Amino acid sequence: MPLEIVACPVCEQKLAVQEYVVVGVQIVCNNCGRSLRIKQRQPLRVEVVPEEATFNSDDRPESYG
Ligand SMILES: [Zn+2]
Repeated sequence: MPLEIVACPVCEQKLAVQEYVVVGVQIVCNNCGRSLRIKQRQPLRVEVVPEEATFNSDDRPESYG
């Protein structure tokens, strides 16, 4: 079967990842809903995508005291 199993680093849910998913692709945990990125293949590893990486609207300099 073209599936690999990896544990979510946040909640340890077992996730099935298609074999064609390559490094750098983002997936979403179906248990905790966090965004994960494929970090390495063979063995398959994923890392949590920081919230700031996707939602950057709060990253504004407070210049006007
Ligand atoms: Zn999870």
